[in-house]
Amino acid sequence: MSAANEPRERSGAGAPASERAGGSGAAKPPGQTIDTHQHFWRYSPAEYGWIDDTMASLRRNFLPEEARREMTVADVHASIAVQARQTVDETRWLLELAEGDPFIAGVVGWVDLQAADLDEQLDQLSRHPRLVGLRHIVQGEPDGFLERPAFLHGVGRLERYGLTYDILVYPRQLSSAVEFARAFPRQRFVLDHLGKPDIRGQGLREWRRHFDLLAALPNVCCKLSGLVTEADWGSWTGPQLRPYIDAALEAFGPSRLMIGSDWPVCTVAASYQTVVGLVRDAISEYSESEQAQILQGTARDFFHLKVETTGLPINRVR
Ligand SMILES: [Zn+2]
Repeated sequence: MSAANEPRERSGAGAPASERAGGSGAAKPPGQTIDTHQHFWRYSPAEYGWIDDTMASLRRNFLPEEARREMTVADVHASIAVQARQTVDETRWLLELAEGDPFIAGVVGWVDLQAADLDEQLDQLSRHPRLVGLRHIVQGEPDGFLERPAFLHGVGRLERYGLTYDILVYPRQLSSAVEFARAFPRQRFVLDHLGKPDIRGQGLREWRRHFDLLAALPNVCCKLSGLVTEADWGSWTGPQLRPYIDAALEAFGPSRLMIGSDWPVCTVAASYQTVVGLVRDAISEYSESEQAQILQGTARDFFHLKVETTGLPINRVR
């Protein structure tokens, strides 16, 4: 592993990331925290081709046991496991992991929403109480994907099964995402990683125009996640990320925002604790109830979480 791939806290990027983040990250949050965006995998080069040389530190297994350790240190109580591979096998595997680890409060899985037998697949999968939603990696699809009739038909079935849908797009796809979410006013949508603004290239203005339009739709929530990996991994600073977090707070408000780590992908740029601390610091001047909304309330409401016991720092999830 080259130095370029070391987590940045240990590389020569000047101040430790926790200091660069512009806050201590140590402020005790009010109540509990639910991390709405984690991934697990058993690594194989064939199945994880997107993990290129710049992310070589991700070329190993990432399993719940390790997540549990990170979450305990960061005082995070439960999480949502999100698909990364676009196979139904992975969805079933994540559901098995959730059965074995009560801290995994829900799974956002994948099925082929364009499949002819979609209803049969959803009938079966949605019986599992931990399946809360689905995601398709639309950022990897050609332009126009969010307008495909077969895909739209599939998304139109989710409300019937009580499933949410995670929107994963790049800024150039945000305008299509607005039309897409508008077409299903009763479907619960959540935008992953703020729509991946180009923080490296200071692409705030163009991103924000469509981001605000998406936020204007009441059926769309947003994850405060994935920012460090859209910035320069080696030299990002808290103040650089702040305008994006502030834009999200302004556009969505605490009642439609939820914290997410994007662990382990985040570790190419910052530790789990640093990423969670970034959001906690950014919202520390909000009221306790607004902070609690972002740290857990929105996730509970949005994903209809029913889990009682997580086994993590505090055993009871309200
Ligand atoms: Zn992710």
